[in-house]
Amino acid sequence: MANELAPSNVLPFCLAPREGRRSGCTLTVVNDDTGGRVTVRFRKPKGFKSVLVDVMTGSDNETDFAFAGTLRGTELALSPKAKCPKERALFAKKVLDWTLRAAEAGDLRTVRCLHEGRCARCGRKLTVPESIDSGLGPECRSKKVA
Ligand SMILES: [Zn+2]
Repeated sequence: MANELAPSNVLPFCLAPREGRRSGCTLTVVNDDTGGRVTVRFRKPKGFKSVLVDVMTGSDNETDFAFAGTLRGTELALSPKAKCPKERALFAKKVLDWTLRAAEAGDLRTVRCLHEGRCARCGRKLTVPESIDSGLGPECRSKKVA
């Protein structure tokens, strides 16, 4: 059973990571028409106001992430200090920007947004369908996410 976000929950999910939680939260965007997919991780280091975006560059979903940039509204602003290979970063930006805009407009159509079944904010395992739809546990969902 896939952990799929409801479209209206995609942007709140990306902005959810609690400041200082190193592993952040991971989102995989899958395009069923093209078979394309990209996995990105959102995290907010201590003292940072914005959410940083890492792009998955290898096959290990724990370690193979490289810093690409910062989330600004619904856009990934690529950083000059990015560690992610340029081509991969540009592809991730294209996919993520499109996905966030489409999610905001309530029109995701061909892409699905998958997560790991853990709360985006605190990392606890999600069990009920409502929580899996939102990517947040009941306690974290009731708190305001900055
Ligand atoms: Zn939580």
